[in-house]
Amino acid sequence: MGGVSDLAGAYDVVVVGSGGAGMAAAVEACDRGARTLVVTKSALGASNTGRAQGGIQAAVGDDDSWQDHLEDTLAAGHGDGDPALVRRLVEGGPGAIAWLTGLGVAFSRDEGRLRILRCGGARRPRLLQAGERTGADMVKALRAAVRARAIAVRDNTAVTAMRPGASGWRLFLRGPDGDDTVAAGAVVLAAGGGLRGEAERLGEASTNHPDATPEVLEMAIAAGAGTVHLDSWQRHPTGALAPAGLAGYALPETTRSYGATLHNAGGERFVDELAPRDVVADAIIREVAEGRGVTADGGGCGVWLDTPAIDRTHGAGFTAARLAYVTKRYSGAGLDITTDRVLVYPVLHYRNGGLRITPDAATTLPGVYAAGEITGGVHGTNRLMGNSLLDTVVFGRTAGAEAAAAAR
Ligand SMILES: Cc1cc2nc3c(=O)[nH]c(=O)nc-3n(C[C@H](O)[C@H](O)[C@H](O)COP(=O)(O)OP(=O)(O)OC[C@H]3O[C@@H](n4cnc5c(N)ncnc54)[C@H](O)[C@@H]3O)c2cc1C
Repeated sequence: MGGVSDLAGAYDVVVVGSGGAGMAAAVEACDRGARTLVVTKSALGASNTGRAQGGIQAAVGDDDSWQDHLEDTLAAGHGDGDPALVRRLVEGGPGAIAWLTGLGVAFSRDEGRLRILRCGGARRPRLLQAGERTGADMVKALRAAVRARAIAVRDNTAVTAMRPGASGWRLFLRGPDGDDTVAAGAVVLAAGGGLRGEAERLGEASTNHPDATPEVLEMAIAAGAGTVHLDSWQRHPTGALAPAGLAGYALPETTRSYGATLHNAGGERFVDELAPRDVVADAIIREVAEGRGVTADGGGCGVWLDTPAIDRTHGAGFTAARLAYVTKRYSGAGLDITTDRVLVYPVLHYRNGGLRITPDAATTLPGVYAAGEITGGVHGTNRLMGNSLLDTVVFGRTAGAEAAAAAR
């Protein structure tokens, strides 16, 4: 349990999920004076957010602007994003970074200036990082913020159903002590996109946390919530194909930002490594389908990611310093990424679509708000790398504030 007891069984705002979106919403709702409960399936903060390595996009560079960020986001999403949602996202970028910094997230700096990388689909350097595991740092800071406030937490508790109540919603819970219900003036759905569950149905690997199953999305739809691009999924281009123990791990986009290149069995490069994600993933899939892939010892076929190119470009020791976590993951599996290329193949990663929301994070159900990967429209049909963590903060905070206001 978190800061306060939930014995009363009735709250102004109940937040479902404790990834970036859920915890940002809870903090904001509480700061607006709402009696707030977070219900989350396992430990507080256990989520896809905690797995994010690459970083968070925000137009904070001298030569950057929210307008450029908006154009890049719409273009990467094939023009399918909702311009009003995208505008809310990108205009909120610098503020989100300032808010996270205030909560204690230490964004990486070089000689005092924020380190900003260019990543796939972005015309400017725009990706900020907190070390190499930005998502884990965000979760740590947000969890501390939740615990420092009078926010009730029901951990190891799943929401199993939601129904309209006399003055809001009633949520049905399954926790360590059995089943019960809780009443909410307003609800924030922040239970993620559930792509791990979809991958399991298909018998495929995915990068997602075991909690990433779509039942909350499905229950909102069953309750009548509108959706957008629900079946648009994204594959991470550089899923680890070998060694077998790394199945489901994805090498972060920053490997390509730092200069790692992709090669087919003939040693040829076949795509701009900094093109949008779906372009890179589709190119790899095509190389393999057309017989130019490399067969892994343990089975499966992929292409080479030339990670030694990073040190060839930036000097010995760069990879060890900047990509220590990836280096460690691979050395643990018996491979030195500074000397050996790695075999990669796209892996299921992200649900682009989801619940339809307004710029104020309202779903089509009265009193129900949503934020993060459970929603659609922000990323069109292909998310720009680094925009999801930003989405969790911008729309998470918005959802919390709006839910608090609605509950009043
Ligand atoms: C390996 C990996 C790397 C990534 N790297 C990046 C990156 O570098 N940059 C970037 O922008 N994005 C990245 N992403 C995507 C990004 O991390 C996620 O899309 C985003 O964090 C989702 O946040 P969320 O709060 O919406 O959902 P999540 O973080 O998935 O949280 C969902 C929460 O809901 C809970 N929940 C689920 N079902 C229930 C239920 N029935 N009852 C109660 N609680 C429930 C879960 O336990 C969890 O706490 C990455 C994703 C992965 C998997």
